[in-house]
Amino acid sequence: MPDTRTMKAVAVHPRVAQSLHLREVPVPEITSIPDGRGVLVKVVRIGGCGTDLEIEAGEYGQAPQGDDFLIIGHENLGQVVDVGPHVPATLAPGSFVVATVRRPGHSIYDMIGMQDMTTDDVYFERGINLRHGYMAEYYVESAGYLVPLPEGLREVGVLVEPMSVVEKGVHQAYEIQRRLRVWQPRRAAVLGAGPVGLLGCLVLRSRGLEVTCLSQEPSASPRGSLVAEIGCHYVSTQEKSVAAASGELGPFDVIVEASGYSPLAFQAAEVLGKNGVLVLVSVTGGDRKVEVDADHINQGFVLGNKVMVGSVNASYADFTRAVDDMIAAEARYPGWLSKLLTTRVDGLENFATFLQRLKAHDGIKVFMELSAISRQPSAAS
Ligand code: BGC
Repeated sequence: MPDTRTMKAVAVHPRVAQSLHLREVPVPEITSIPDGRGVLVKVVRIGGCGTDLEIEAGEYGQAPQGDDFLIIGHENLGQVVDVGPHVPATLAPGSFVVATVRRPGHSIYDMIGMQDMTTDDVYFERGINLRHGYMAEYYVESAGYLVPLPEGLREVGVLVEPMSVVEKGVHQAYEIQRRLRVWQPRRAAVLGAGPVGLLGCLVLRSRGLEVTCLSQEPSASPRGSLVAEIGCHYVSTQEKSVAAASGELGPFDVIVEASGYSPLAFQAAEVLGKNGVLVLVSVTGGDRKVEVDADHINQGFVLGNKVMVGSVNASYADFTRAVDDMIAAEARYPGWLSKLLTTRVDGLENFATFLQRLKAHDGIKVFMELSAISRQPSAAS
């Protein structure tokens, strides 16, 4: 157990813009988790994303009941320090773990462990809504929410959470398409080349699809090269429209919209192939309005038996799918995943730099390194 009873954490006062700060909080106790299932984890890395920016801007997120602050950070990688008596051996001290984000509420889906499909208006997400996150020296969690990682993934494990989001979207698409009995998708498109878009290309590629990634950066950009390195096509939307790309490289059987720019969802709907599925994974917090070609899109969906599906968060199984696809990717495209980890900031006390890099969209993935990876992490920092 840690010999110090407090630790550093990075938090906001939710709904108060620019309130990101470092604070001392009590080190959580494994005994706070019932049935001897508690695991104390030392945080190794935390990734940042658009959701963190919205929280910092005071637009999103809530504090846990009884607190006026929210510890942020949901893209996580840590090492087990201590375990309760009923924790499986796969989570032994020293193991690398990634924690899932959403915790059950009250709907029927939550009751059967499908909280990523909750119909509750209020949802509980660590580091986002009503539950403290992982941007702290330690966290405690129940064994059932921790996904063990093989050692080989420790350098890239912080990408498991964003990858789980797109794993869920793609898995949902395949689940839905079982309706077609003989569906054999060949071509896919991913809109957006941020971390989720790039990981989406990887996920679809591992399913054997021919993938086209469309994004605004020029083809001769690091993102364009990364896409090409895993055998996908890259199309710059500055050079070609979604419709023109579909004419050349489509029709697309699967489209994943991950650009964060909602009008693209409707452009994608216009070009989706017959019997195709369009998956929306961008959480767009604004209130943008655009005119769409409503009759054309509607008729295309009706006459082409097409599906549009929204997908948020991820189940435990989606996290393990991400781990499996990462293991395969490390063998097939060695070093590719680590190229996404472009922008490293060391130490919780450098939270302001972390935020600055995130705001500046510096590189592909901005992440914070909290503690060096050790064989057997000591509880005392
Ligand atoms: C997180 C998801 C979460 C969603 C909505 C995303 O940034 O990766 O886990 O469900 O935001 O809050």
